[in-house]
Amino acid sequence: MSLVVMKFGGTSVEDPAAISRTASIVAGRVAMGKQPVVVVSALAKVTDQLLRAASCAAHGDRTGALAISSRLRSRHRDTAAALVKDPHNSAALINLIDQKFDSLDEILRGLAAILELTPRISDLIVSYGERISSRIVTAAFCERGINAAHVDAREVIITDSQFQKAVPLDGPIEKRAAATLRPLVDEGKVPVMGGFIASNEEGITTTLGRGGSDFTGALVGGALSAEAIEIWTDVDGIMTTDPRICPDALRVKVISFEEAAELAYFGAKVLHPATILPAVKKNIPVLVLNSKNPTNEGTRIISLAPHCSSPFKSIAVKKKLSIIDVVASRMLMTHGYLKEIFTIFDKHKCPVDMVSTSEVSVSLTVDSNDKLPSIAADLSHLADVKYEGKKALVCLVGEDIRGQNGIAAQVFSAIRHINVRMISQGASEINMSFMIDEDDADEALRSLHAAFFQNPDPTVFDVEARKSPAVAS
Ligand code: ASP
Ligand code: MG
Repeated sequence: MSLVVMKFGGTSVEDPAAISRTASIVAGRVAMGKQPVVVVSALAKVTDQLLRAASCAAHGDRTGALAISSRLRSRHRDTAAALVKDPHNSAALINLIDQKFDSLDEILRGLAAILELTPRISDLIVSYGERISSRIVTAAFCERGINAAHVDAREVIITDSQFQKAVPLDGPIEKRAAATLRPLVDEGKVPVMGGFIASNEEGITTTLGRGGSDFTGALVGGALSAEAIEIWTDVDGIMTTDPRICPDALRVKVISFEEAAELAYFGAKVLHPATILPAVKKNIPVLVLNSKNPTNEGTRIISLAPHCSSPFKSIAVKKKLSIIDVVASRMLMTHGYLKEIFTIFDKHKCPVDMVSTSEVSVSLTVDSNDKLPSIAADLSHLADVKYEGKKALVCLVGEDIRGQNGIAAQVFSAIRHINVRMISQGASEINMSFMIDEDDADEALRSLHAAFFQNPDPTVFDVEARKSPAVAS
């Protein structure tokens, strides 16, 4: 039999209509003879709202925190009531939702008294989103004839204790998946579990970091050696660029793991970068699919993508970046200087995206963040420091640039009217990135897209859609 992991994001479970659509998609897979294991996110926006409630409570606004929780309680109760009509099942589900919100309220009240929000408490609070969504989805599936069984993700996904960004432990996850999920699948059941949430080996709730449900999907797929991991979202897959900026953007039908990982790191929001790893390790294809347009083929991410006649598969842009210039003549002919610089970024736990150096200067880019003034203050002990925000990183990705001459010339001639602040090529053989002002980013994307996707290769890109524009989803 063929086991597939199906992960549904927040928009695929945002309301009763979305959850019903999700149920039909899963029922369709069962009818095809597949054995789905389902991973769901919290209902859309719920994680943000839980974090807001936590922040209100931590600032002493007990009423504000409880008001958010009460609105969430109503939303979940209404969603459950709309989906589950059987009176007995409906009462049981609503009772369970009430119990969960009662205990959440107790935590929020405690937090409003203690006024200290630790990462551990934050994880406990946000975990309610997936703990409740997975219950509602399980009940809705059962009502629609799917033999679904709820599984508490915290009993399967075991991590270390780095709250808010915990690192999964492969060995324990494999054991738990074999003990908990496999027997259910073998009995013909469809396990349904929350994404994103996990626990450490002591059973304390942790999370995998924002957007972490994709990661859960890949971890489960890896642990069970699934035939495929399906990431159901609300777009038709990976596109040649952001269609909101460039309406000519095309769907990429097939892309390599390596290319998809580059795109994910550079802000293509379709996929959590770490999703790639557990899948790559076991060579399991990842499919990005649209739950609002389920017949679309989406994007297939595989180890070895077919050769493509266009040098690039996709152009991503990451905005809200800052550039930091460190200039010191002391750097000339010395060693250990870069180490000192990076030690400072490390101390502030600030990841660096791109680095470019000359004999006397180093330019680094980071996500704009409130630690920049203190980072700059620390760096100023070493050298002259300047930093500037409102920058954007444009990143062109494609394996077929390897060994092709003249690609950089084509890229920079397509954007010759735009001022380029920093360039990086080399670290990865399959991407070319450069930094410009945020205000120029959309124009750069359109110019590059026009230059590189005039005659797209039909084996890799969905050129049919350009001929007969699909109905907007
Ligand atoms: N609900 C979590 C978040 O919003 C995880 C996810 O949806 O992937 O970050
Ligand atoms: Mg997501």
